[in-house]
This record gives sequence, C-alpha cells and structure tokens, in this order.
Amino acid sequence: MTIIKISDKIRLASKQGPDHRTIVKVGPHNIGGEHVVVIAGPCSVESRDQIMGTARIVKEAGCHMLRGGAFKPRTLPYSFQGLGEEGLEMLAEARRETGLPVVTEVLAPGDVELVESYADVLQIGARNMQNYPLLRRVGAAEKPVFLKRGMAATIEEWLGCAEYILNEGNRDVILCERGLRGFSKVTRNTLDVSAVPVIRQSSHLPVVIDPSHGTGVRSLVAPMAYAGVAAGADGVMLEVHPRPEEALSDGAQSLRPPELMELMNQIRKVANAVGRSV
Ligand code: PEP
Ligand code: MN
Repeated sequence: MTIIKISDKIRLASKQGPDHRTIVKVGPHNIGGEHVVVIAGPCSVESRDQIMGTARIVKEAGCHMLRGGAFKPRTLPYSFQGLGEEGLEMLAEARRETGLPVVTEVLAPGDVELVESYADVLQIGARNMQNYPLLRRVGAAEKPVFLKRGMAATIEEWLGCAEYILNEGNRDVILCERGLRGFSKVTRNTLDVSAVPVIRQSSHLPVVIDPSHGTGVRSLVAPMAYAGVAAGADGVMLEVHPRPEEALSDGAQSLRPPELMELMNQIRKVANAVGRSV
C-alpha cells in the first residue's frame, strides 16, 4: 500500500510501513482488521423503552455495537441535553441484554471517570476534537477512544489530536470521518469520503465513516455508507430510531428499523467486493 506522509510532526499516529495497522479490540470485535464493524443506535438515549427497543433492533440487524449519547453537545442550551448518568445506566442495561458493546460521548474531562465506568468506547465529538484537556484526559483512560473529525479540521489537525491521546499512553484510538461544513443546502455536511483512503495510507489507526451526520438526510445514509466501505473504512457509524419523527435529536438523519435491515444486507455485498466482511 502507498504511504502518504502528512507531516514529520505526526509521530505516533503515522504509518511506519505498508502493513503497519493498529487493531482496536472492543469486546469480541476487532476494529481495523478484515471485518467491517457497524456501530448503530439513536443519536440520544431518550428513555429506557427507546434505548432497549433500539438495541434489540440493532442486534437483530446484525450490527456489532450500540451507540447513543447520554451527554449531548447541542447547538442551543434550550435543546435536550441528554439523560446523563441515568442514560449511561440504560446503555449498560442494553449491553447486558444484547451483548452489544457501547459507544457513547464524553463532553468534559471531569466526566471521563463516570462515562468510562459504563462505556466500552469513549466518543469525542466533532465539536470537542480540539479540546486538548479532554484529549489528554481520555489519553489516560483505560477504554478505547472514538475521535470524530472536527467539522472544519484538516487531516493534519485531526491526526494531531489523535497524537495527544496516543502521547498520554492510550494506544486504542479509532478515527471517525463525519463530514465537513460546506455550502450545500441539501446536505447538513459534506462527507469527505477521500479522508478514508488518506487515513488508511497515512496512519495505522482504524477509520470509521459516519454517513448520518455526514449527510443529515435519511435517504442519503445508505449510499454514503456503501461509499465509505468501498473506500476502505474499517467501520460505519449509523443513527437509527424506532420512530424518527419523535426523536429528540437528529430525527431527519435517523434510519427507520427496516432501512437498517436493508442497509446491513447490502453493505455485506460492498464489503465482499473489496475483500472485507461484515
Ligand atoms: C453524535 O454522534 O451524535 C454527534 C454529536 O456527532 P458529531 O460530534 O459528529 O456532530
Ligand atoms: Mn447525532
């Protein structure tokens, strides 16, 4: 595989040779290996019924991990901010029932200990990509970190943030491309699919694509998920909701359960076509 050098200053996140890859283990799953890992769930944990019901759908569809925010970074303070620790408890209950490992966001350094006691993977959201005290704190955590790309961040800046986490000793960093701020009025963001092969060729870290935030439009999620897998993504993050019209956040981009089932059927074919499996 070709190696792209982003910068001499990216030391720990850079690819050192063609076969240099980090595999992040989460429960029974390996991220960064032959399998493409699918992480699905609601944008926010809203209630016990909602997260338990969604977790069952995610499991039945054949996805590998459950997502859901308990601490939400919202544009306005008046919007639903998440259920906090109560939401984390519900996620842990969903894991107990389904066996799905849980990925959830942590917003502040002071919450890392709490979130880490419930979650399997700590998500750093796009808005916090350059929150350096938070990066240092999750760098000292015991759990893998899911680092979303900032909405106006270059690849070099993004890898610089991974560098902060790696430099504190946490080697388990998963990168996630979730779209950049653009000028389109049709899509919420512009999904940089090219970031996937750029990361594959410049870094040993696994890279996941998020076509839900990347497009903001339900009907565009599946085609862009397939594009991400075709481009070499090690995983896909998807938002799904049993009743998207009632969602407290990101309903317009949330798949309905049958759409998740259909996506899972099709994505296997795309993965197989590029020598991977789901
Ligand atoms: C999310 O995953 O729900 C989220 C807030 O994503 P992002 O940080 O990419 O906007
Ligand atoms: Mn969301």
